[in-house]
Amino acid sequence: MIPSSAITDREREIFLRKLDATARAKDGLIISTWEWNFIAHFFYSSRPSLWFTEPRRVAADKMRMRYGAEPEIGMPFPPAPARPANLPEADADGCQFVMREDGRQQPCNAPAAMVRQNGFRYCAAHAEAVQRDLQRRGKTMILSPI
Ligand SMILES: [Zn+2]
Repeated sequence: MIPSSAITDREREIFLRKLDATARAKDGLIISTWEWNFIAHFFYSSRPSLWFTEPRRVAADKMRMRYGAEPEIGMPFPPAPARPANLPEADADGCQFVMREDGRQQPCNAPAAMVRQNGFRYCAAHAEAVQRDLQRRGKTMILSPI
């Protein structure tokens, strides 16, 4: 699945060109062999505008998640799109983590146990799941008990 549909192929192309340039630069970003090959394939293609397939978009977007915020690139990964209009609000003391149920997105709404600095509430289970997910990616999020 594409993490964010807000990214265009043109932006992906700009990102890959920047990543290539900084990866070649002295003291530039260090990228994996797989990523070098991915970028090389892109540049070999005779029609870069037609090169992106769904799996290639996903791969490019994952690379942007990894490197986009680096100062040499300056293309931070865009935040998730705003909540769909039909997404119900969580109760005032409910977990706001969005789950998919019966094909519909809705907040978990279990009693919230933790709150993020921006006010977003999580139940204990989702707070733990989100933290674990972030830690795997080398990130952390500050949560306070409610
Ligand atoms: Zn929850």
